[in-house]
Parts: sequence; C-alpha cells; structure tokens
Amino acid sequence: HAVLKAMDEVPREEFVEAGTRDEAYEDVALPIACGQTISQPFVVAYMTEQLQLRPHHRVLEIGTGSGYQAAVLSHLAAEVVTVDPFRTLADRARLRFKRLARDNVEVLTADGFDLPDQVGHFDRIIVTAAMEEVPAPLQDRLSRDGLLLAPVGPQTGVQVLRRIRHRGSEFVTEDLLEVRFVPALKGIARQL
Ligand code: SAH
Repeated sequence: HAVLKAMDEVPREEFVEAGTRDEAYEDVALPIACGQTISQPFVVAYMTEQLQLRPHHRVLEIGTGSGYQAAVLSHLAAEVVTVDPFRTLADRARLRFKRLARDNVEVLTADGFDLPDQVGHFDRIIVTAAMEEVPAPLQDRLSRDGLLLAPVGPQTGVQVLRRIRHRGSEFVTEDLLEVRFVPALKGIARQL
C-alpha cells in the first residue's frame, strides 16, 4: 500500500516539538510553533489517499506547518511545493527536508491566498488549513484533470473535506468527510 509505505518512511518524531516526541506515533494532532498543529496521522493518510497521486505529479501544499504532510507527498510525487506565511515554520520545515534528504520539496514563505504567479500550475493541490471558500485563483492553478483537496467551512467547528476536479472546462465538486483544521489566515505578516 503506497500511502502507508510513504508514511512509514517519514519519521513523524522529527516533525513534532521536543516536548511531544513521546506522542509522535499516536493518532493525534499535536501543537507546533506559531499556534499551529501537525495533523492527525489518520487525516494525513486519508487526504494523501484521496489525492490519487502518480509519480510524475507536481503537487502544491497550502500550509506547510511542520512539513510532515509535504514529506509524505514527496515520496509519492515528482515535485512538491509547500507554502506557509510563518517564516519560523517555513525555515524549520526546510531544515527537516534537508536533513531527511527530501530534495524534491521546495518551501516558500508565502500566503496561499496570494501566491506568486511564477509558481505555475499543479496536478494536485492540497490545502491543510480551513478555508471558508476555495478561492478561484487557487482552483485556477490546477492543470487539466487536476485535483484539489481542501477543508472548507467556518473557522471554528466542523468543516468538510472537499475535492474539486478540473475536468474539461469545468470543476466538479465532491464532499468527502467532516474534518477539523486550524483556519487559513488572511493577510498575516511573513516575518513571524
Ligand atoms: N500540513 C501541516 C499542518 C498544517 S497546520 C503538517 O503536516 O504539519 C495549518 C498550516 O497552515 C499552519 O502552519 C499555518 O501557518 C498555515 N497557514 C495559515 N494560513 C495560511 C495561508 N494563508 N497560506 C498558507 N498557509 C497558511
């Protein structure tokens, strides 16, 4: 099973805070720097599975956080670009990818609501922070037959994991399951 094998290859203990290392292999979300969280392993597995990755895919992740999800993706796709507006998180994730030789991951200190044009298009987009709506400019970064996965809903409470497929000239939407993510923040400073 490709997804579980990829998760097996990423040491989650390297992505959690020193104080929670003994919980690194429990199926729970854990707090990380900047008031954020590393997702629950079940949710990482489920979302990765639902992305239907192929080895040639170029993938965008919105919400680097610890870098754990991106590291898992890097075992299943050709190239991963992951963005987070918190410099502290982006810098730490970059160090982890270097230490673990994940050479096909690029970390950008950037806002997922305002991506630099030059990042281009992606076969797969995974959003790991809750959005009230999937912004059209983000959806437009999908290649043909591309697939986007995002937790959509209010900042507090239950959100739904939505999958959007770019088919021909239209976007086909499907709701998968209820999830709970930290909110995607708008307009926050990059030097935090
Ligand atoms: N995928 C991460 C967990 C993400 S937690 C992991 O594997 O550890 C949600 C992340 O989204 C946080 O790191 C937060 O800083 C980031 N985030 C919040 N607002 C964002 C935005 N506007 N653009 C990109 N990332 C954002």
